[in-house]
Amino acid sequence: MKIGCPKEIKPQEFRVGMTPNAAFEAVKHGHQVIIETSAGSGAGFDDAAYIAAGATIMGTAAEVFAAADMIVKVKEPQAGERKMLREGQLLFTYLHLAPDPEQTKDLMESGATCIAYETVTDSAGGLPLLAPMSEVAGRLAPQVGAWTLQKANGGRGVLMGGVPGVGPAKVVVIGGGVVGTHAARVASGMGADVTVLDRSLSRMRYLDDVFGREFKTSFASAGNTIELAREADLIIGAVLIPGAAAPKLISREQLSELKPGAAIVDVAIDQGGCFETSRATTHQDPIYNVDGIMHYCVANMPGAVARTSTIALGNATMPFMLALADKGWKQACADDEHLLAGLNVHAGQLTYFAVGKALGIDV
Ligand code: NAD
Repeated sequence: MKIGCPKEIKPQEFRVGMTPNAAFEAVKHGHQVIIETSAGSGAGFDDAAYIAAGATIMGTAAEVFAAADMIVKVKEPQAGERKMLREGQLLFTYLHLAPDPEQTKDLMESGATCIAYETVTDSAGGLPLLAPMSEVAGRLAPQVGAWTLQKANGGRGVLMGGVPGVGPAKVVVIGGGVVGTHAARVASGMGADVTVLDRSLSRMRYLDDVFGREFKTSFASAGNTIELAREADLIIGAVLIPGAAAPKLISREQLSELKPGAAIVDVAIDQGGCFETSRATTHQDPIYNVDGIMHYCVANMPGAVARTSTIALGNATMPFMLALADKGWKQACADDEHLLAGLNVHAGQLTYFAVGKALGIDV
């Protein structure tokens, strides 16, 4: 199969759909890999690395789309890219169609077969192609939180780990899933005093069993949440209710009860955020102040560490990409119900129930 990987064109997107290692594996499986020139530069992979892996470099996205049987990307195709898709072509990337009727319409009209990273499942009920980005965002959250806490950034001027004779920062993580667990581990590793709040008792049992010495757990009742938040230097929002907007767990009014200069990192901002005062920010202008509380609400946190994120995503997508290329999408999906769960659009039809429900389209 001819596998094409164009350069990402969404603003501020530095990741790339295939690493040179992924290209090397695909070539070893007998496929031809076509990379748009400088596609990997934002993640630190130059054309020479792809050529060494056995890939071919092409000068434009149009050439890559025209030559490839399967397109592997990171972000949903932008309007110009959607025009280049054709009937029978396979697209493997993040799509997030539910809030995006325009993209859904274009993909249906293209006649392409579109498999979305975010709906591929695993046998544990997880989302294996979303998890790596949650791991990245979770590990990044204490790092950006520590920066936000610095005085020059409007924060309380508190050091995460303290020093001998001075206690550490108090960090509260709301939501103990993938993001929350990774955030808590890194914050604890920085020497902070960390508590994770969740509403799932089974999740807290697991966290306590595995990480009981690194951080504490507490049930996320409204009372507990505000009580712990009042004491916190840094609060990290990491809740998720699948398929729904994030619940607002701290109101504007309650901000006045927090410590002046406390920092909020709302990782759940891509689902609307779990603080009433959260609004999405960018890497260029990541923080803002509401009532003396510093908010960091960047919706695409993994973009800040494009190289790590690209490699982590590539590790997770590679087996699926190889299965699709080796067997063709029909056989690969017939053999693997978890990959089949990723099928969102095929030959003009929407094939993913939740997207159809959100957009009022028959599936
Ligand atoms: P997850 O499903 O692994 O974990 C979510 C956790 O929240 C679960 O343990 C759940 O029990 C808990 N929860 C649900 N409601 C709660 C409540 N009211 N109080 C306390 N806990 C509650 O999800 P995840 O992968 O950790 O993702 C968390 C959020 O981070 C999602 O919104 C995800 O989209 C977002 N995210 C954002 C970025 C970014 O760049 N900003 C990157 C990756 C993920």
